[in-house]
Amino acid sequence: MESKFSGNFTQQEPIPESAIEAAVEVMRSGRLHRYNEAPGETSQASLLEREFAEMSGSAYCLAVASCGAAIAIALRSAGARAGETILTNAFTLAPVPGAIAAAGCIPELVEINDDLVVDLDDLRKKIAASTARIFLISHMRGHICDMSEVASICERSEVALIEDCAHTMGARWNGVWSGRHGLAACYSTQTYKHANSGEGGLLISDDSDFMAKAIMLSGSYMFYERHQAAPPKASFEDARYLTPNCSARMDNLRAAILRPQLASLDRRCREWNERYRIVERRLSAVDQIALPERPAAEEFVGSSIQFRLPGFVGEEIESVVGRCADGGVALKWFGAAEPAGFTSRYDSWRYFESVRCPSTDRILATLLDMRLPLTFTPDDCEQVSAIIAEAVAEAASGERARLPHANTSNARGD
Ligand SMILES: *Cc1c(COP(=O)(O)O)cnc(C)c1O
Repeated sequence: MESKFSGNFTQQEPIPESAIEAAVEVMRSGRLHRYNEAPGETSQASLLEREFAEMSGSAYCLAVASCGAAIAIALRSAGARAGETILTNAFTLAPVPGAIAAAGCIPELVEINDDLVVDLDDLRKKIAASTARIFLISHMRGHICDMSEVASICERSEVALIEDCAHTMGARWNGVWSGRHGLAACYSTQTYKHANSGEGGLLISDDSDFMAKAIMLSGSYMFYERHQAAPPKASFEDARYLTPNCSARMDNLRAAILRPQLASLDRRCREWNERYRIVERRLSAVDQIALPERPAAEEFVGSSIQFRLPGFVGEEIESVVGRCADGGVALKWFGAAEPAGFTSRYDSWRYFESVRCPSTDRILATLLDMRLPLTFTPDDCEQVSAIIAEAVAEAASGERARLPHANTSNARGD
């Protein structure tokens, strides 16, 4: 019997000392609002935008209150009108359909495949059959699909591509930053993502009209000229009169905390992947476990890991989750009937009508999820993997004893 794991799955690294010092300096100045600059000073929010634009290689960047706010702003800046249909993944997190609803629009869900990325055949089909002009792709849990193909599908059908990069800050597809494949991309700096300011979001784009609208929507009043990663003044000529102020700014305190974290993003991404690879290697040795394939072009950030138990029925999965919990290992099951915690099952979002997505249903029914915080050591990752392997083996043998015809893998029903 494996000994109980004592690590905490929701414990992130502390905020770096340099970030704490920068935050204290902002607090001492009293100038927390981004447009409350001293004469000759550039605000922390503006500096953050400039640095993130440089890192990502985008022309423009806007810091906002959350990734959800960034998505709603991006949709409206891309011209989404109330009542319009927006294509998005069936497998995503609640703030994504929430942001679509906040823009007054209606999500239309696209299937995912066994590798947990958008099913491109279904995307082509839905684009052809739908009036949607925007595809909001969500790189849910950091899984990136063939972005060259997605970009070309969207381009051919004149569908604007917006990327939800909440879990792919620092990731790349074919060497290109995740978030640089379409019109715009949205990142999260919420505690569980790849930079931590409690809450926060970043929006990038190369399109000057789009970004002028986005800056106005974020609540810039007429201070847009103070932005350091904004399009030229002329781009605001119409937008300044025609765009409502939706008050979703980022403040200087959060920007100050984020700047030093951006500087260490690559190191943290490497550390996440080191942990991911340990767990992936251990779990791939377990017969009943299926791991998503990660193509060479996908330079992901393994801040969490997902795996399926394709032969298992609901009761068996509940038993795995229960045994792991007893061993101190926190797993989330995406197939649970009732939404709990951070919800991500589309049929729990009943404020819009969704057509069933049978492939996604089948995949989520056996899909498990585990965070990999950087406070875990490589040894912790070994121990956690061993506990999961043991729980899966026990649940499998227990069920085999109980079910008379369950000695072949098909009998377990996929
Ligand atoms: C966290 C998350 C969001 C939303 O981020 P917030 O900053 O909390 O609004 C959007 N999409 C995905 C996939 C996420 O994981």
